[in-house]
Amino acid sequence: MGSATKDDQALLLDAIREFARNELLEADRRWDEDETSVWEMMPAIAELGLLSLPLPEKFGGLECDMRTYASIIREIAYASPSTAVTVSVHSMVCKVLGMHATNAWKEKHYGHFGSHESFAAFAISEADAGSDVASTKTIGTKVDGGYRVTGSKMWITNGLHARWFLILCRTNPDGPRGTGLSAMIVDGVETGIERDKIHGKMGIRGSETVVLHLSDVFVPDENLLGQEGEGMKVCLGALDEGRIGIASQAAGIGEACLDEMISYADQRTQFDQPIACFQAIQEMVADGAVDLEAARLLIDRAAHLVDTGRKDPQASAMAKLFATEAANRIAYRAVQVHGGSGYVKECRVEQLFRDARITTIYEGTSEIQRLIIARHLIKDA
Ligand SMILES: Cc1cc2nc3c(=O)[nH]c(=O)nc-3n(C[C@H](O)[C@H](O)[C@H](O)COP(=O)(O)OP(=O)(O)OC[C@H]3O[C@@H](n4cnc5c(N)ncnc54)[C@H](O)[C@@H]3O)c2cc1C
Repeated sequence: MGSATKDDQALLLDAIREFARNELLEADRRWDEDETSVWEMMPAIAELGLLSLPLPEKFGGLECDMRTYASIIREIAYASPSTAVTVSVHSMVCKVLGMHATNAWKEKHYGHFGSHESFAAFAISEADAGSDVASTKTIGTKVDGGYRVTGSKMWITNGLHARWFLILCRTNPDGPRGTGLSAMIVDGVETGIERDKIHGKMGIRGSETVVLHLSDVFVPDENLLGQEGEGMKVCLGALDEGRIGIASQAAGIGEACLDEMISYADQRTQFDQPIACFQAIQEMVADGAVDLEAARLLIDRAAHLVDTGRKDPQASAMAKLFATEAANRIAYRAVQVHGGSGYVKECRVEQLFRDARITTIYEGTSEIQRLIIARHLIKDA
């Protein structure tokens, strides 16, 4: 973190762990049940500093380094995977704004991002542009003093209550594929962007997910992020760091599953002994522990590279690919160790199994992470 010492960081992590386990865990179970959202906790989340993690100190933030940030997201995810993705997406947008927003925009708005009233969302995906971001159809037409933006964005996390939306739109319809796209920060409250909540998600049901409708929305020039036409670079660069957040979310889910698995194995008796005495159960625990440790190390490496100015898309992709697939393996084993008890809603691993599933899909599927990794290794990939 900016000027924080190692002791400050340890204290912050302790406070977050306590808050997450005491306040978020139970609430997260309720959000899963009734599909309400983490928004109800947002004032407390902001109060603890969780919305200002990557914000520069100059703008009232904690200026958290990536390794500390990854540990924080993991701690939150251990108790509430929904809150972890909520904070991770807001933080990713904060980071992009720090790098690419104009000074004029920053002076007016950036200092408010630690408050839930400036809650942010990352709105890239569309119904027909998921993995294939280059096929974005939302149009930004240049007008005097800004752009008029029209289109729909799909699957937008934080979208129900966010004030700010980082959007990607086509500002040059004639450019070759992958060009002509621009990134902008849009005030969703002032422009009255329409939001439709998506219901019926398999997991992370406490995280808000919406469809956005932008109809001739005016976005001033000063809200452009980077240069016109460089939107792909801005957004894909953001995802390189965002993926460390999702990898950390997955590691938190994996750790929770492992703890649940060990605790159940100790207390459940069959054949007159705790099932923890059976080698088959020990293997599942051991494999889970190795998966988790390897995930943490890959996350730590990717985060360290960011912190030392050597951000590496391949390292982030490896961390995300491994940690998210590992979380799913650990969650699968956790249900298996619980037997029938793990198959019903009362059991937390049933929810963690569903929550883990999304991590291999958003912010680039596992297949896309493999493409990114292969591109660094194979000349013609
Ligand atoms: C709960 C949730 C929250 C989300 N939050 C956000 C958000 O906040 N902001 C946002 O912009 N988006 C968000 N997304 C969207 C998410 O990033 C996309 O769902 C994801 O990128 C995949 O796109 P898609 O769903 O269109 O699948 P598709 O791209 O249609 O992929 C379908 C399948 O084809 C595979 N595939 C596609 N292309 C290739 C290829 N070239 N090579 C090999 N396999 C390929 C994929 O890996 C996948 O298995 C969210 C999605 C969900 C479900």
